[in-house]
Amino acid sequence: MTDYSGVLSELVDGSWEEPGTGKHYDIGIKSLVIRDSLDGDEAALIANLHHGKRISVVSDPFTHSALGSRIYKTLKADGQQVSEYVWQTPQCSDTGVDQIRKATPDCDVRIAVGSGTVNDTVKYACFLDNKPYSVFATSPMNAFTTATASVSFDGFKKSITCRGAEGVFFDLSVLAKCPPSLISAAFADVICRTTAQVDWLLSHLLFNTPYSETPYTLLAYDEASMIDNASRMLGGDIDALGMLTRISAIMGLGTRFTDTTHSGSMAEHQISHYIDMFAGDKHPGSSHGEQVGIGTVTMSLLQNETLSRHSPPVMRATRIPTADLIERFGPDTAASMVAETEKKALNSQSADELNTKLANEWPDIRKRLSTVMLPYAQVENAMRSAGCTITATDMKLDQQFYCDAVRYARFIRDRFSMLDLVDDSDGLESFISTMPT
Ligand SMILES: [Zn+2]
Repeated sequence: MTDYSGVLSELVDGSWEEPGTGKHYDIGIKSLVIRDSLDGDEAALIANLHHGKRISVVSDPFTHSALGSRIYKTLKADGQQVSEYVWQTPQCSDTGVDQIRKATPDCDVRIAVGSGTVNDTVKYACFLDNKPYSVFATSPMNAFTTATASVSFDGFKKSITCRGAEGVFFDLSVLAKCPPSLISAAFADVICRTTAQVDWLLSHLLFNTPYSETPYTLLAYDEASMIDNASRMLGGDIDALGMLTRISAIMGLGTRFTDTTHSGSMAEHQISHYIDMFAGDKHPGSSHGEQVGIGTVTMSLLQNETLSRHSPPVMRATRIPTADLIERFGPDTAASMVAETEKKALNSQSADELNTKLANEWPDIRKRLSTVMLPYAQVENAMRSAGCTITATDMKLDQQFYCDAVRYARFIRDRFSMLDLVDDSDGLESFISTMPT
């Protein structure tokens, strides 16, 4: 049996020392195991964390046959007080959370077996019930190590801070059999490190906003080999999946080091949020990872183009198109977009100050950002190798709609990104007119 936990085991026991600062971190997870197989170890992993507790194993019909049934039977054979609930109608919504709480009222601990929906619903249900939870993953993704859950209330998706899992367990032989689209989506949702870091560092260099290298130091252990091995993931190669799983887990931990989601969620995620919020029936539905993937391709191109220029962009005061926003998105959404954008908007004085800074420091800013940026061709090639969606057309998303997503995404959040720098220097429309869609 091979252990693939790598640096994560040092993070869990607190022994990881940050190079340069000597700092140690408490990531709040008691046990995190990544192995080529966990078959036969499930009972011991659970007993170590939840000894003597009444346990409910929650899965959906797919994850039940992939892993849930095996876990239930193993815990039962071990003599643990265990029941199982196979959720026939999984949905990560207020209704779904109620279903889980009603179906498993008498347990002390819930064990989620699955990915997005089962994991997030159990996470939130346990938070409301003040009960611990642990999770066995059935695909790689960031959500297992985050303390947040994405839940729809009356159809409106919210990210809620709750409590993270006590135990997070990955059996790579199970992950190797998950639908390939989930592996591609997970790859996209970690290779966005490059665009998120450029944006977050850009904001820090221009406006001295908070910034942390810690998540990136950890991600750097595996990123280059993960990219080199991108083509092996879809074939279920265990070593390559181990890298992807470690990186996804570290990406999810970003908030535990920085108290914000900035390290892995900048403009590429705003583009994804835009698609989620407004695509409606304009496409047949896409996953978070697919949306982030096409956003990452777009942002990587925009960042590489902008940073290839020897002369700095010339900024002007931000123009918030309030009437246009109201017409497109309705008064309530437009009001929140205006409020978010005002927090980062340039006025004529701050635009002048920024121009002075850019005139003096552009070569240094370019250089610093270029060291954390992957070349566009490398991002695109790696994503193609990992089977990711690259363009809106790949995702069956209307091209005009996608142009609007790139045009208006900057108004969704107060985070200053390359979209803001380019739009406030009158370069965004010409980029949109030539970008691949
Ligand atoms: Zn994401």
